[in-house]
Amino acid sequence: MKIQLKQYLSAIDKEQVDALETLIFLVSGGDNPNSNPGDWGRFAHKKTVSERFQRAHKRGAATKPFTTDLPNDKGTRVSFWQVKADLSTFEYLSLARKIAQQAIAQGSETVSIQLQKLPVASHKPLVDALISALYAANWPITSFKSGKKNKKPTKRLHIYGLKSLVNTKQSVATSEGTNVARDLTQLPPNVLTPGEYRKRLRKLATQFGWQHKFYNKSQLEQKKAGAFVAVLEASDKPTGGLVHLRYQPSRRPKKTLALVGKGLCYDTGGINLKPAKFMYGMHEDMEGSAVALGTLIALSRMKVDYAIDCYLALAVNDIGPLGYRPNDVITASNGTTIEIVHTDAEGRMVLADTLAIASKAKPDLMIDYATLTGSCVAALGTTYSGAFTNREEFHNDVIDAGKKSGERVWPFPQDKDFDKALHSKIADIKQCTVGGGPDHILAARFLNRFVDKNVPWIHVDLAAGNHKGGLAHIPTETTGFGVRFTVDLLQSKLFAN
Ligand SMILES: [Zn+2]
Repeated sequence: MKIQLKQYLSAIDKEQVDALETLIFLVSGGDNPNSNPGDWGRFAHKKTVSERFQRAHKRGAATKPFTTDLPNDKGTRVSFWQVKADLSTFEYLSLARKIAQQAIAQGSETVSIQLQKLPVASHKPLVDALISALYAANWPITSFKSGKKNKKPTKRLHIYGLKSLVNTKQSVATSEGTNVARDLTQLPPNVLTPGEYRKRLRKLATQFGWQHKFYNKSQLEQKKAGAFVAVLEASDKPTGGLVHLRYQPSRRPKKTLALVGKGLCYDTGGINLKPAKFMYGMHEDMEGSAVALGTLIALSRMKVDYAIDCYLALAVNDIGPLGYRPNDVITASNGTTIEIVHTDAEGRMVLADTLAIASKAKPDLMIDYATLTGSCVAALGTTYSGAFTNREEFHNDVIDAGKKSGERVWPFPQDKDFDKALHSKIADIKQCTVGGGPDHILAARFLNRFVDKNVPWIHVDLAAGNHKGGLAHIPTETTGFGVRFTVDLLQSKLFAN
């Protein structure tokens, strides 16, 4: 889908207003939503709206944005949204979601917005938020409900009153990446099997011009990727495996980025079967791979000048007689032996080998995404995701990119003495502990064993991958969280220079 964007450096004039069915004003407002914006500039109908606003305010209503129909032929419906000063990106995105919802409910294919006396510094984040929210609200998310949809999609966004034109390439690119990730993640597990996922990835590879490679179970066995293979064992004729996509810029790249994603198309927990309450929703356990893919899509659209290797670890954590069990000892592709403790910790198993394989190419930066631990959700809730890195000096850039993108991320410690909890009597390392403890930190310490020390690495535990009621500009519970964060992170000094 595409929303056509037009930016105007002038305020909307009378002729333009009177041709519209709906118009949205964004006016500067304090903390009081009832305060009259006062300065209506050269707005053609300012006398009418100002009087009506005062009257509505006297009645004490105004918990909603003030809305009124203009006395012109079209009866243009105008609504006034107050924008507070100094909003964070997260707050701009959250406000834009409400505006997008209203615009869609009003049913006009063109969303027209006048920025009225807003501080110039707010223009760029507002334009980004409005584009992102409109794409999120209009994206054709796959549904299996029978019957017709009657929602009219937004086709155009017209923004008036800008001080200068805003470059919107990144907003559109991250929107596409995020929404592809959201849609894939919410697909039912009998639809998005690893086989179907691979088919879609091949199609995308052709569309985007990525190189494409797939390692099936026997090829992973040849690579001695025992940790990955252990997870595939329980599936009858597993269609999972490792997908490797490569983006090559037009000029010879100076740097390479590696993106890695956990793609568990369903997670039953394995022989340590999950109870119903925790199994329901486990089709979303492939969100990490969808976010890695979405990031690759966004960066490809932005035509970045570095190469990108994207590795997606696809599998189903099934139950079956051949499935791996607690107390098994398994050897990963880097030779590390792992004592299995809990078959529901399958994410770190497929990631262990994938990170080891991805490390071999010595990328300049490696980022992995996974819906990995319940303890990360317990620690942060679902409005933030957790970050873990083998370069502590990255912490500030990680926090800043989270704030800048509106996808907020917070780092956790990675001191070596955490490893004591993973000490095994029989193997090099325990997969996890039996229960309790800081599993999100221990999982990252476990993964660290499979990452080349010379490769700067960031692991993102997607606690915010699903948030009840939607998050920021995203109206659905599945958020696709991580694409915006990564694109901003890659522009920080940590990677760009
Ligand atoms: Zn699991």
